Amino acid sequence: MKPSIAIIGAGMAGLTLARELAPHAELTLFEKARGLGGRMSTRRNGTHQWDHGAQFFTARTAAFKALLSPFIDRGIVAEWQPNITTLSPAKPPFKRLWFEPHYVAVPAMNQLLKTLADGLDVRLQTRVGRVAQQQEKWQLHDEHDRPLGEYDWVISSAPLPQTRALLPAPQLGHNALDGFAMQPCYALLLAVDDAALPVWDAARVNNSPINWIAFNHRLPGRQRQVGAVVVHSTPEWAAIHLENDQEQVKQRLIDHFCTLTGVDAGAITQAQLHRWRYAISTEVAEPDPGFVMNEHGRLAACGDWCLGGRVEAAFTSAHRLAGALRTRL
Ligand SMILES: Cc1cc2nc3c(=O)[nH]c(=O)nc-3n(C[C@H](O)[C@H](O)[C@H](O)COP(=O)(O)OP(=O)(O)OC[C@H]3O[C@@H](n4cnc5c(N)ncnc54)[C@H](O)[C@@H]3O)c2cc1C
Repeated sequence: MKPSIAIIGAGMAGLTLARELAPHAELTLFEKARGLGGRMSTRRNGTHQWDHGAQFFTARTAAFKALLSPFIDRGIVAEWQPNITTLSPAKPPFKRLWFEPHYVAVPAMNQLLKTLADGLDVRLQTRVGRVAQQQEKWQLHDEHDRPLGEYDWVISSAPLPQTRALLPAPQLGHNALDGFAMQPCYALLLAVDDAALPVWDAARVNNSPINWIAFNHRLPGRQRQVGAVVVHSTPEWAAIHLENDQEQVKQRLIDHFCTLTGVDAGAITQAQLHRWRYAISTEVAEPDPGFVMNEHGRLAACGDWCLGGRVEAAFTSAHRLAGALRTRL
C-alpha cells in the first residue's frame, strides 16, 4: 500500500511536490484560500484584475526550465519584455535592461498553479489548525478542530511562521527551522485609465517606501484597455507600518505613487491595499539541502523560504524534497 501524505499549502511548492510524488503516495493537499495562487495570486474586481504577489519569474535551473517548457508551448506561460525604468524621487528616470528572460503566467499569474493542480486532490478553503501524533500516524484538524484525516507523513509548504506554528518541534527537530526568515510587503492595487499612465510598463524604485510599480494590464495576455496598477512597498517600510491604520497606509502609498509617476490622484478610480504579512524570504546562508525533513518523525517542510525567496526557489525546494522522499517512501 502506498503511504499517505498530507501537504499543507497549495502554492508553487506544495503543487510541485504533489505532482512529483503522485506516483509514489496517496496525496491530499490542504489550502486555506478560496482559490489557488498562494503568493502567485490574482485579485479580480469587476472588470479589473491585479497580480498582487509575484510579478514575474525567471528560470535558471534545468529542472524549472523543463517544467515551464510545455506551458510556454501551450501559451500558459509567456515571456514578458516590458519597457522597464528606474525611478528615484527628484531624479530623472533611466531605462533599465534585463539580461535574462522574465516570465509571467497568462491570462493571470495564478493560471500556472491552476494548471499544475490538474488531477490533484486539493481541498480549498481548508485551513490546517493542528497537527498531532496518534500512535504511528499524524492526525490533522482544521481551525475549528474538525478532523481532516490521518496520514503517514505531513509536509508543510506554508510560509515559515505558519510552518513553525503547525509542525511539532520535537518530531521535526528543535532547531530545524532556525536560520530562515521572512519579511512583509504592502501591495497597493489601483485602477487608472491607461491613457493617464506613463509610457514605461514597470519600474524599480530607489530611495522610497515603494520599490516596484507595474502596469499590470500591459502584461502579455491581459486586457490592455483596463488600467490596473500594482505598487509594492519595500519590506522595511511594510515592517515599520505593519499594524498602522490601513487607510492611512493606503493613502501614503498613493501619495508616493503620484509623486513618483506624475499621475494625477484624480485619475485613480479604485484603490485597494493588500498586506502580505509573510511576503519575501531573506537570503539563506546555507542553501543545502533546500528543504527540512525529519525522516524518523515523518515530517518535512519546503517552500521559497528554504532557498531565499522567488518562485523558482519554491519550485526547487519542493523538487529537491520530492527527490529525497522518493527513496524513503
Ligand atoms: C508582494 C510579493 C512580490 C513577489 N514578487 C516576486 C517576483 O517578482 N518574482 C518571484 O520569483 N517571486 C516573487 N515573490 C515571491 C513568490 O511569490 C514566492 O516565492 C512563491 O510564490 C512562494 O511559493 P510557495 O509555494 O513557497 O508559498 P506560497 O505561495 O505562500 O504558498 C503557501 C500556501 O500555503 C497556504 N497556507 C498557509 N497556511 C496554511 C494552513 N494553515 N492551512 C492550509 N493552507 C495554508 C497559503 O494560503 C498558500 O497558498 C513575491 C512575493 C510577494 C508576496
